[in-house]
Formats: sequence, structure tokens, C-alpha cells
Amino acid sequence: MTDHDLPVIAHWIDGAESAPTGGRTAPVYNPATGAVQAHVALADEADIQAAIASASRGFAEWSGYSVAKRQSVLFAFRELLNARKGELAAILTAEHGKVLSDAMGEIARGQEVVELATGFPHLIKGAYSENASNGVDVYSLKQPLGVVGIISPFNFPAMVPMWFFPIALAAGNAVVLKPSEKDPSASLWLARLWKEAGLPAGAFTVLQGDKVAVDGLLEAPEVQSISFVGSTPIAQYIYETASKNGKRVQALGGAKNHMLVLPDADLDLVADSAVNAGFGAAGERCMAVSVVLAVDPVADELIAKVTERIAKLRIGNGADADEPDMGPLISGAHRDKVSSYVDIAEADGARIVVDGRGFSVDGHEEGFFFGPTLLDEVPTSSRAYTEEIFGPVLSVVRVKTYEEGLALINSGEFGNGTAIFTNDGGAARRFQHEVQVGMIGINVPIPVPVAYHSFGGWKKSLFGDAKAYGVHGFDFFTREKAVTSRWLDPATHGGINLGFPQN
Ligand code: NAD
Repeated sequence: MTDHDLPVIAHWIDGAESAPTGGRTAPVYNPATGAVQAHVALADEADIQAAIASASRGFAEWSGYSVAKRQSVLFAFRELLNARKGELAAILTAEHGKVLSDAMGEIARGQEVVELATGFPHLIKGAYSENASNGVDVYSLKQPLGVVGIISPFNFPAMVPMWFFPIALAAGNAVVLKPSEKDPSASLWLARLWKEAGLPAGAFTVLQGDKVAVDGLLEAPEVQSISFVGSTPIAQYIYETASKNGKRVQALGGAKNHMLVLPDADLDLVADSAVNAGFGAAGERCMAVSVVLAVDPVADELIAKVTERIAKLRIGNGADADEPDMGPLISGAHRDKVSSYVDIAEADGARIVVDGRGFSVDGHEEGFFFGPTLLDEVPTSSRAYTEEIFGPVLSVVRVKTYEEGLALINSGEFGNGTAIFTNDGGAARRFQHEVQVGMIGINVPIPVPVAYHSFGGWKKSLFGDAKAYGVHGFDFFTREKAVTSRWLDPATHGGINLGFPQN
């Protein structure tokens, strides 16, 4: 098959696939084989304008649906997603590379938000205060914003958009989703599902593309809000630009998550957790554990247990019937970047306990594989410690005390997730109070909050004050109006009074 025969992944505008107007495309790989399997359209100005115009029409129609009718569409979407999620998982594995069971896990965590959103009438109803003053009632309404933009990263092509769009749509907004150009097909599958569920054309739009599409959404006056998830430098750019343009914005950035292991912890549980959270999805999770802070004297025993477990991990094509534990990285360029961090750690004096550099899988020599890697005694001045690697590289840093470990976590620029492993309830309680991180696990390595709590980090892991989903999500995607009302009758009419209204 030549490059010309490969499919072009289109936009979704006006309730149907929409061929790109310009000629720009980007390759979409199968990371397990390294082969280009499609090209994705990269939006130009005409596509951006068409998407926004369609979303504006979609908003006019969808926001006019009754609460009951909107709710029935959400329930239908939930049923279709639940029945057909295997199809979506296969798409995720083919373009992202994560193993199928992990892809199903990603969908399950997104489905949670869909299920939360089906209960939206309770969450967006207003409040009513009768007789706030004589004959005066005060009440509040929550209304949709209009057209809202979602810009998502490559690592969760289904779950991250689902953190936002079920709630945005439930509240009556129209969504324009700009997925990652690295794994864009999930977005079209979700768009088709919305159509089948009864969502009117234009209420869910997919704009494929790169920075041009993102900047188009950031500049468009019709776009009322931006929900972004991705790396920290881009999150900061999005936050600043969207704010400057008067939009509501939530922007979630990168991470460097530490696991603090106290000497009284169950080291088998810790070793299992470190391996699961360090190497699951090949470390391409914003809540992956990348640093284990081993409080003296646990390091040697823990490293032995982790090494034993790494030796048993099976790495391969996530789509294989005999499913491996870990798949490839997203691209050859990213694999080389991950590898360069191991070089940096080595040059800076870290001890390489397990080396994943140069790893390949038989029959998949062109795939973007990188072996699980374990580093010990990583200097905290090394860029391998301070920067996000986003690959299957677990670094051990030895600390003498709880206080030393806590100080390291709190000195970092990120504050997404962290975990403490201990059997001491008092120490755990102290940790949850003292640590400057948004999501904390106590003997739980990947503490992604359930849908009815909200997801978001601190510091450079989240710009703005709005977290994803939960109550934050409903607040973000609605605008409140407060109404003060009096129905005049002779008994309560106050006559002429130019003073400020009082009770
Ligand atoms: P990325 O920042 O490269 O891309 C994210 C989105 O921004 C994509 O849609 C991309 O097309 C767009 N983009 C890229 N460069 C841009 C530019 N210069 N201007 C405008 N838009 C641009 O991130 P990624 O590599 O796709 O995803 C991995 C990153 O996302 C990691 O840093 C990870 O920690 C982070 N992440 C964070 C969370 C969280 O909840 N905090 C969740 C998932 C991923």
C-alpha cells in the first residue's frame, strides 16, 4: 500500500465526516509496528470557521431541548458506549499502543463521567429563596456558556475528552473537540455515537489539527471556554491566551509523581504498586509514578522486589490475543527522548538497575518499544529527576526521613499526584495535610478521583482554578444568573424610595 492509498481521518462537522479543505495532514502510526496507517487532516482557517459556525447552530438547537430530552440523549449515549466499548478500545490500542485491557480501563473511567452527567438535572438546578424581602423572591438559574472548546493530549484519546464533554453537553453547551493529532480516530467514533444517541448536528464537532486549529479556537469570539489537557508549557500558553481573549479556561499540565515509602510499609504491596503505576501504559499517564522515595532502610529490599517483578513483565503488541503487560511508546521521537533521559541520569551518576534502552520485540523490530527501566540513586539535581520523562522509567531516590521525602515532593514544580505507603495512620494523615499536591493516594498508587470528585493538580500541573469533572465541571460549564423578583400588589408596594435596596 502506498502512502496515497492510506485513509485520511477527517473532521466531524454538521453531524457528518467532513473532508479537509486544505492539503495539510500528519501521519498516524501504529506504534506497535512503527507503520504509518493513516493520515489525519490538519485544519486550516476554512475548516475552523466551518466547525465553529456549525457548533453555533448546534448550540442554538441543543440548548433549546428540554431537560428531559437532553437527559434521554445522555442515557442513550451511555447505553451505546457501554454496549460497544470494545470497538473503541481496539481503536485506542491501534493508534496509542496501550494494551487492550488498559484501553478498556481508560473507557471505564470516562464512562463514569458520562454516568455522572446523566444525573445533571440535580446538579444544574438553581436555588430559590422565597420572601427574601417583603414580597420579594430571589432565585438563581444555571445556563450553558455556548460553544466550548476541548483540546486533548495523546495519552488518553477517549477518557480525557470524556472528562469534559458529557458535562458540557448535559449543561446544554455545544462542544468543539480538538483531539491529539497522534491518535485522532477515537474522536470520530465518539461523534458517530452521539449522532446515534440523538444529539443534533453541530452540538458535537471534531476539529482535527495542530497549533493552527488550537489557535483558531483560542481566537474565535464564539468559543466561550477552553478545557485543555497536555504538557505544562502548552497548558500555560493556553491559559494565558484564552484568558487574554476573555474566555473561561481550565488547563491541566504535566506531572512528576512521587511515591513516598515509609519503613513500616508492606514492601510487596509497594513493589506491586510501583510496577503497576510506573510501567502501566508504558508510563504515559499523567498520574504514573515516576519517582519512588525510599525512606531508609527500605531501598535495597524494595529495589530487589521491583527488579524481580520487572523481569516477569511481558512487552509486546497490545492488540495480541495473548495480551502483554505493556505496549510501545507513542512515537519513535518520543522513545528517543525517553532514552535520552536515561543517558542523562547515567551521566549524572545514577545507577542503572534495569536498562530498557535499545529494547525490541521479536517480529516488531520497527515498533516504538522501550523496555521497563529502573534507576537508583538518581541525583535530585539531574534533569532526569526534575523533568517529566513520560515513559517506563522508574527512579529511586533514597531519603533518610519522612521530612526529607516530603520536602523533595514539595520543592518540585509539579503537583499533580502523589502517594504515601505506610501502615501508620498518623503519618498518612500528616502527609495529606502537609503535601502540596492536588491528588493524594494513601496506599493507592494512581489516585485518580472518581467522577463525583474533581480531578486536578496544583502548581504547574493545573493553570486556573477549575478542575476537571465533579462539581467543578458543572460550575465550569454553566453560568449563573440571580433573579430578584417582585409581583406587585398594593399591600407590599413600597412607593417612591431612592435609597439602596435593603431588607
Ligand atoms: P501536548 O501538550 O504536546 O499536546 C496536547 C494538545 O495540545 C494536543 O491536542 C496538541 O495538538 C496541542 N498542541 C501541541 N503543541 C501545541 C502548540 N505549540 N500550540 C497549541 N497547541 C499545541 O501534550 P501530549 O504530548 O499530547 O500529552 C502528554 C502530556 O499531557 C504530558 O505532559 C502529560 O503529563 C500531560 N497530561 C496531563 C494530564 C493531567 O490531567 N494533568 C492528563 C493527561 C496528560
